[in-house]
Amino acid sequence: MGAATGGRPESVVVVGAGVVGLSTAWFLQEHGVEVTVVDRRGVAAGASWGNAGYVAPAFSVPLAEPEVLRYGLRSLFDRDAPLYVPRTVDPGLWAFLLRFAGNCRRSTWQKSMRALVGLNDDCLDAFDELAKGGVTAPTPTAPVVAAFEKREQAVELRNEFERTRRSGQDTVFTEAAGLDVPQLSSRVGTVLQIEGQRHVDPGEFTRSLAEAVESRGGRIHSGFDVRGVVRDGRRLIVKSAQHEYVQADSVVLASGAWLPELAAGAGVKRSVRAGRGYSFTVPTQQPVPCPIYLPAVRVACTPYQGALRVAGTMEFRGPDADLDRQRIEAIVQSARPFLRGVDWDARHDEWVGPRPVTTDGLPLIGPTKLPGVHVAGGHGMWGLTLGPITGSLLAEQIVTGERPAALRPFDPLR
Ligand SMILES: Cc1cc2nc3c(=O)[nH]c(=O)nc-3n(C[C@H](O)[C@H](O)[C@H](O)COP(=O)(O)OP(=O)(O)OC[C@H]3O[C@@H](n4cnc5c(N)ncnc54)[C@H](O)[C@@H]3O)c2cc1C
Repeated sequence: MGAATGGRPESVVVVGAGVVGLSTAWFLQEHGVEVTVVDRRGVAAGASWGNAGYVAPAFSVPLAEPEVLRYGLRSLFDRDAPLYVPRTVDPGLWAFLLRFAGNCRRSTWQKSMRALVGLNDDCLDAFDELAKGGVTAPTPTAPVVAAFEKREQAVELRNEFERTRRSGQDTVFTEAAGLDVPQLSSRVGTVLQIEGQRHVDPGEFTRSLAEAVESRGGRIHSGFDVRGVVRDGRRLIVKSAQHEYVQADSVVLASGAWLPELAAGAGVKRSVRAGRGYSFTVPTQQPVPCPIYLPAVRVACTPYQGALRVAGTMEFRGPDADLDRQRIEAIVQSARPFLRGVDWDARHDEWVGPRPVTTDGLPLIGPTKLPGVHVAGGHGMWGLTLGPITGSLLAEQIVTGERPAALRPFDPLR
């Protein structure tokens, strides 16, 4: 008996070969479920490739907060600002931003944070489980070093850690006047060193997840552009734009910033919009020992393939819009004063990708109105950190039919 008729599924099609979809596929295999992953392009074709690679529960907090609203209003329409909304006539986007702004309240933030703690608490364990089960990409532990010009500028981040502590999540950090990170320039007067975080090469990590899924008998179809899911008796049929189809007992929609295209048909009304971020890689004179975060300009840097990956900006445009070179230049200009020994002119791998952002800052994980169809997405800034734990908990729910307590706040039909 299949999930479409209320039983334990024997087979599942996962739509989306990003970190969330592949993690869900991998954990479903742990329960003995046969999986097929389909993606309209291929493995790590979306946000899961060029992100900053932080596996950092300390920073996994709701995006909607009063400070983002103040900051956003100041920088609205400024193409060089870290947060950018183009002057386009897109009523859907404005409705989304208004709802987002309505959630930028301290009380909403605190409630959402309590919900995220349920995922943050176990997110590193889920990475360990993947590693034990054959996902080979390294996930080294290192502090994240947040660098500030002046000591008083660290207050905002300290306050955030205090608020996360009140929500049940303790963050261990120390403050230092300077630090042994060769890339920090003399402009940096204070750093907060946040302990116990990890970082990965996100493309390599997602590829090694895909390899592990395949090596355990899962199938991955690239170039399969899903246009709809229909029920046919006890089976669900997933159809592509090219009129191919795959069928299974259950389906997981994990299509990142493109989620609304498919999830709306399953009764999910919550909006997901692309908060696009940019990244590139630059050579450094000396090895980079740990991730470096520049809160003043909202730029995240990570050791990456013997160089430095630099990532930033939040641009609300369609997920498939072209890369805007001016946004890359803006990141370079904003980060340059804080870093030294970095060859900005030799940058490569320039990339743009869509963070799947929701109006309340919480992901959408769980069943939809269409029996047997689930969604997993909308993790915004933190889908890499939260992808594996999402997959683990959702797989449990799909197989047992019981929602784990930690998933309750993320009901996609909320
Ligand atoms: C610049 C930047 C920096 C970031 N830094 C971090 C970080 O340091 N740490 C962190 O935790 N997170 C970070 N993120 C966020 C993180 O990258 C995302 O939250 C995460 O990758 C989302 O994963 P996903 O699997 O949901 O979506 P995606 O990786 O976007 O995957 C969705 C997949 O679905 C496929 N798809 C879409 N529509 C269809 C369809 N109709 N049919 C078939 N396939 C379809 C796409 O091709 C894509 O491969 C960052 C994001 C950006 C942009």
